[in-house]
Amino acid sequence: LADQSVSEDELLADPVEKVMAVGGTRHPAIALPADLFQPERVNSQGVDLDDAAVLAATATEIAIPAKLAIAAGPGPQEAVSRALAAYPAWSSTSLYTRAECLDRLADLLEENRGKLMALAVQEAKKTIPDALSEVREAIDFCRYYSARAIADLVPVELPGPTGERNVLRHEGRGVWVAIAPWNFPLAIFLGQVAAALVAGNAVVAKPAPQTPAIAAFAVSLAHQAGVPADALQLVTGAGDVGAQLTSDTRICGVVFTGSVPTAKAIARNLLLDDARPLVPLIAETGGLNAMIVDSTALSEQVVRDVIISGFQSAGQRCSALRLLLLQEDIADHTLEMLRGAMDCLNVGDPSDPATDIGPVIDQASYDKLMAYRQSVKDRIFHSVAVPAKGLFVPPTVIRLNDLDQLQNEWFGPLVHVATWKAGTLDATVQRVNAKGFGLTMGLHSRIARSSEAVEQMARVGNLYINRSMIGAVVGSQPFGGEGLSGTGPKAGGPHYLYRFCAERTTSTDT
Ligand code: NAP
Repeated sequence: LADQSVSEDELLADPVEKVMAVGGTRHPAIALPADLFQPERVNSQGVDLDDAAVLAATATEIAIPAKLAIAAGPGPQEAVSRALAAYPAWSSTSLYTRAECLDRLADLLEENRGKLMALAVQEAKKTIPDALSEVREAIDFCRYYSARAIADLVPVELPGPTGERNVLRHEGRGVWVAIAPWNFPLAIFLGQVAAALVAGNAVVAKPAPQTPAIAAFAVSLAHQAGVPADALQLVTGAGDVGAQLTSDTRICGVVFTGSVPTAKAIARNLLLDDARPLVPLIAETGGLNAMIVDSTALSEQVVRDVIISGFQSAGQRCSALRLLLLQEDIADHTLEMLRGAMDCLNVGDPSDPATDIGPVIDQASYDKLMAYRQSVKDRIFHSVAVPAKGLFVPPTVIRLNDLDQLQNEWFGPLVHVATWKAGTLDATVQRVNAKGFGLTMGLHSRIARSSEAVEQMARVGNLYINRSMIGAVVGSQPFGGEGLSGTGPKAGGPHYLYRFCAERTTSTDT
């Protein structure tokens, strides 16, 4: 990035120091808590990230930088060449120095929180609480991977029966390509980058085409934190940039978060050339996430958690609720309460602190979601009024006649609902499993036996019982799926860093 000369000032013509007051009673009709969509309160270290100062700040507007353009950087091949050249020096830098770089980066993220939030609102159309959560998660990833690296990546001596000395080392593999989606343009982007770097790799990072500026700013902070410029390259641009990077036979691995079709395209690409080495692909993709509710559940809690899980971030979270499965006996009652709660939602300008739900990311996404919504209009149970102008997809609940009617992830604020009969809990879970995705599942039940049964049967990476299905906390709730939803290992979990390493064992006759 040194050659790209992306300075903070260039990125942000109009820096933001203001944070906003968020609060007030927004859901009086059904007495949902006023802080329904507030960000999570503590980070992975149990540290309160200055909530009170942020949320009580009196400024009420967020200044959006006028200029988001970033300078052109190297092309894909040139970036890989530079990263390859930088790799030996970076990988032989002490583990502690690399970890310190992440700690410094975390500090810089905290210092620049207002600017990063502004970029998240501007580029990714995040609401203010979502933007705050985004920055916190990025900070958490840096601190967590730094701590884990020091704990886990030191050489270990392994006992052996032969009298030999056996040492297992974890070292960088080479140049990783990191490809991120737009919906967590800072947290996922930096999470991938931080893990690969601290494990001793050089990285070529490609952000989503919708969110290059926040990525460029994050990379400039990483360089400020001590990561050598060429050890972390940023390549922006749409089209075949990602494909070019993953086709480069010099890379040693790909860490990808995005859609299932793209993950499969990358996997194919990595196998195209017979001569290239086998390299790891870490892919974290989408889900067809179900919440199962039985007749013992607390209705108010269910409604609150459906709203949060299905509609927060305009449903643009991989973990979001897509399929609400209500036990027949309580379906009508629950849906009527849900209707009331939906009518209290405030859809609008994401930079307005009073907004609960903002627009979807771009015109293409809007068109796709609205066309689908139109195609199922006869089955719409309820939807929320939205401003006439802008990319606002109405938060909508759509009835299903049968669970099999839903086969695709619709990446927006659309929740599908179906019912199940008492005594068919096991079969219902099996039918969800059979869809092949395995990211998140929710259960609302006060029967311990049901929770245990679902825990046994659910083929998902993250199961949430009697709570919402989003907002995994780094370090406490390692996140990632199986099946069509991803390869693992889980981001923010104790095994993630190992995947970025080459493991080498030396056995010496003593
Ligand atoms: P996407 O269309 O798959 O794009 C993700 C990234 O892949 C972008 O940077 C994209 O950039 C790049 N890309 C596209 N085609 C490529 C190819 N052939 N080779 C290499 N790179 C390529 O996904 P998205 O729309 O940005 O994100 C939404 C999806 O991400 C949803 O399905 C969501 O569920 C999933 N997601 C999963 C997680 C998780 O942790 N499991 C988290 C967040 C989001 P270009 O378009 O410029 O190529």
